[in-house]
Amino acid sequence: MKRGSLLIVVICFAFLRINAQTDKQMNSFLDKLMSQMTLEEKIGQLNLPVSSFFIAGERKEGQLNPMEQRIAKGEIGGLFGMKGAKQIRALQQVAVEKSRLHIPLLFGLDVIHGYETTFPIPLALSTSWNMDLIEREAKTAAIEASSDGISWVFSPMVDICRDARWGRIAEGAGEDPYLGGEIAKALVRGYQGKENDFTQEGTVMACVKHYALYGGAEAGRDYNTVEMSRQGMMNGFMEPYREACKQGAGSYMASFNEFEGIPATANKYLLDDILRKQWGFKGFIVSDYTGIPEMISHGIGDLQTVSASALDAGIDMDMVSEGFTKTLKQSLAEEKITKTHIDQACRRILEAKYRLGLFSDPYKYCNEEKASKVLFSTENRQVSRVTADECQVLLKNENDLLPLKKNGRIAVIGPLGDAAGDMPGSWAATGKGDLSVSLYQGIKKAIGSNGVVAYAKGSDLVADSLLETKLNGTMGFIIPGMKVKKVHDRKPQELLDEALAIAGNADVIIAALGENANMNGEGASRSIPDIPEPQKELLKSLVATGKPVVLVLFTGRPLILSWEDQNVPAILNAWFPGSEAGTSIAGILFGDVNPSGKLTTSFPRNAGQMPIYYNHKNTGRPHGDFENYSRFRSNYIDVINAPLYPFGYGLSYTKFDYGDITLSAEKMPMTGTVTAKITVTNSGTMDGNEIVQLYIRDVYSTSTRPVKELKGFKKISLKAGESKEAAFILSAEDLKYYNHDLAYVCEPGDFEIMIGPNSRDVKKTKLTVY
Ligand code: BGC
Repeated sequence: MKRGSLLIVVICFAFLRINAQTDKQMNSFLDKLMSQMTLEEKIGQLNLPVSSFFIAGERKEGQLNPMEQRIAKGEIGGLFGMKGAKQIRALQQVAVEKSRLHIPLLFGLDVIHGYETTFPIPLALSTSWNMDLIEREAKTAAIEASSDGISWVFSPMVDICRDARWGRIAEGAGEDPYLGGEIAKALVRGYQGKENDFTQEGTVMACVKHYALYGGAEAGRDYNTVEMSRQGMMNGFMEPYREACKQGAGSYMASFNEFEGIPATANKYLLDDILRKQWGFKGFIVSDYTGIPEMISHGIGDLQTVSASALDAGIDMDMVSEGFTKTLKQSLAEEKITKTHIDQACRRILEAKYRLGLFSDPYKYCNEEKASKVLFSTENRQVSRVTADECQVLLKNENDLLPLKKNGRIAVIGPLGDAAGDMPGSWAATGKGDLSVSLYQGIKKAIGSNGVVAYAKGSDLVADSLLETKLNGTMGFIIPGMKVKKVHDRKPQELLDEALAIAGNADVIIAALGENANMNGEGASRSIPDIPEPQKELLKSLVATGKPVVLVLFTGRPLILSWEDQNVPAILNAWFPGSEAGTSIAGILFGDVNPSGKLTTSFPRNAGQMPIYYNHKNTGRPHGDFENYSRFRSNYIDVINAPLYPFGYGLSYTKFDYGDITLSAEKMPMTGTVTAKITVTNSGTMDGNEIVQLYIRDVYSTSTRPVKELKGFKKISLKAGESKEAAFILSAEDLKYYNHDLAYVCEPGDFEIMIGPNSRDVKKTKLTVY
């Protein structure tokens, strides 16, 4: 054996021994602790209330408020929804100093795309196809959150979604299970560190959600039923959850939806058979917010029944509902559950606390000094800026209208043009929304004294003023006593006249339109996801001026842009780019940054095309994507099959040419590998980054397979005029799928190998596997 290999073996052995020792220490610590716990204290560990309700109640000097009394009594295992090292430290102190067994609390939070420094929304982040960047985003968020009291983040959200109507498509990584799996791993690495070693500073425990299939909601309506076959689920939706598990994610959150007639929260097949038994997950599972009592509405029992079913299926922690605290004791007495159920769940929660290091230092995550340095720091904002640079997608650029020159007169028009608070997008409650850079601010700064920039709102956000009021509230709610922003306080004509006057004076118009932050995310489904009517009318008037118009789109989902694609010369999809939105968008508009993002969701032509996704099946009567209507084929009378913008699509200011694919061999034995290569040339005049994508198609198999499946991608940088080869090593592992019996197999035969700049424009060759 070579010396290097020997060293690796010695290190691995030492690592395993240390791990075994730590496990041994943990087990004896927890055995002892649990032997002292009462039944009530064990059930208390399974209880996760939300802190905003929790803090209610004055604390008189020297006295605990009613909720703190519950902590002291050991009725609570963790809290979520709270921010701030000082406040968290105070409650942790009650747990460790006033409770009988001094067990520390877990503090969880929805840290979804940043903490105080916000990053592009997850869907935008996925369009970077840059795993290092994505890992760094999560790491930066973890560094901020872990200094401010948080030990557990409710992220990553890895639900695959094929339907733009679903508002939560904003929170995930799009429609592809392979890319989704890679991103899930990168995010877990970012939060937990590469080794899942929570002794490393700046790490937090991840919570993979929403397990499972939440993104498959019928008709894109949030919380709706999921109807899917086991085979469809395993091939199209489960990979990200599975990959996150392989990466060592510490916890999972069950989803609200049902699967096969059983809500996920009580679905033993999903939670126990697949997650724990097949994938070997060892951490704990939390329900989603009131996921347990919601099963009463699902119609599968009263609170006692559904709480017992959830525990029995594998839920360890009850978020918010107190279903466990209210009923488990009785269920135990009535032998509906066993003591082992409770012990097992309690043990998993305690293990998480132990691994996080909370027993050795309960205040480990409350580092006020560090928080004051890292929260919303210049350095972290810079990370957010460079992240945003890679997360925007150029959808159209007729006659190279973009990049713009940094001079002249620019009109920024639209309700999202100066909307700093919306720039972080949904799920950014802890972010410094109003300190984000709006598009107008970013453009003004970039152009300085070389030009003149003017802004006008131009239209309302949506036609309905009551709806717009709600959409300006906190997550779509008007909380009593909250200061409500005035909406529809000016006449539409007055807004339009003002905008047209500014536009008339400009050399170029930048129309900043789309959704505001609350128009997507949880509970924000839309039946027709497009640019809302008043904004669309504004856009039509701007285009009618005959001046060049650049549409900068803010959205948390794919939008229907058929009219825009036909009539507006340039479209940049900025999504919601985070704290440095305006700076980053301006960088792209003026060509300081060459856009490189590529879509991870198909953009429909109209609402009737949804759900639409590139990895669909062929059917027995396939019809060409761009062919006209033909009777008795699988197509529509009124629209072609192709999406407006396909999965993987995105333009650059330069041009990339693809050569032909070469394979190292045309035949591959089941145990072998083959390398597929392609040369990509930057034939334009600007340096740029290209995302080279590899797709396969299993031509004949025992079950039907998609027309294309992404199996690899490379993001490469090319100087103007430069050529590079992208190489992909393929093995049978990449060609496997779940067959009808749910066995994960590669079936011998022919495969198409396709490589290209997106899922539509690919070069093809054939590989035979034997
Ligand atoms: C959402 C979860 C979130 C939880 C806690 C639920 O409504 O579905 O994604 O983590 O609330 O805020």
